[in-house]
Amino acid sequence: MSPGKARLATGASERDETLADLLAHGRFLGGLSSVGVAWPPPAAAAAARPDASGEAAAPAVRTDDPAVALAAIREEMGDCRRCKLASGRKRIVFGQGNPRAELMFVGEAPGSEEDEQGLAFVGRAGQLLTDIIEKGMKMRRADVWIGNVLKCRPPQNRNPEPDEILSCQPFLEAQIRAIRPRVLVGLGKFAAQWLLKTAEPISRLRGRLGEHEGIPVMPTYHPAYLLRNAAAKKDVWEDMKVVLGLLGRPVPGSGE
Ligand code: URA
Repeated sequence: MSPGKARLATGASERDETLADLLAHGRFLGGLSSVGVAWPPPAAAAAARPDASGEAAAPAVRTDDPAVALAAIREEMGDCRRCKLASGRKRIVFGQGNPRAELMFVGEAPGSEEDEQGLAFVGRAGQLLTDIIEKGMKMRRADVWIGNVLKCRPPQNRNPEPDEILSCQPFLEAQIRAIRPRVLVGLGKFAAQWLLKTAEPISRLRGRLGEHEGIPVMPTYHPAYLLRNAAAKKDVWEDMKVVLGLLGRPVPGSGE
């Protein structure tokens, strides 16, 4: 630890010190946003992403930046009271996964289980999402990033309201810039419309690739919808096959 930097507590473990360093750095980076500097710079984050051949384009860029940037975003969010959902939520659901994920799923908002645990997609819809990722796509859930448009649960799981989306959106924008995934998947109407900046219904958006700040976006049905409409699972699988293709990964069952 550098001289002058406060220890978390006497006898703090190395892990605590690392966390304190990360948070201190995060506070610094968080301060940058208040003076109008985006972190990480989109170009640097894109350069750090390996290209299709798997080679990092700019090895000089520090590899831990996404984790640091995410810590800064969480720190900036604090005990958020920026919208009316704060009064009814139990826990903020920041999202979780690999800060260097190539694939990022964006859902609508936490439900009751997510609100209890502070984790995205851990209820029934979450289990189905896990199956799509692990059984279908043959990827590990821990290797992707999973988050939501809203970080707090709307009462009785009602739809997100425009003022709530507006209050929360700087955080999702910052998360996407920090992680800079190769592909985004918008789960359901609210995520798909937010990512693509459109009011088109999900029935028209689904399966048609769009883009968000230069990142390909696949809009697809929300897992909660699939729990009520099992027949729509085949559409989601078609969409995930396109996503796997974009990632340069084999499509299970295609003989590849
Ligand atoms: N539905 C969502 O949109 N997000 C969650 O985290 C859980 C259910």
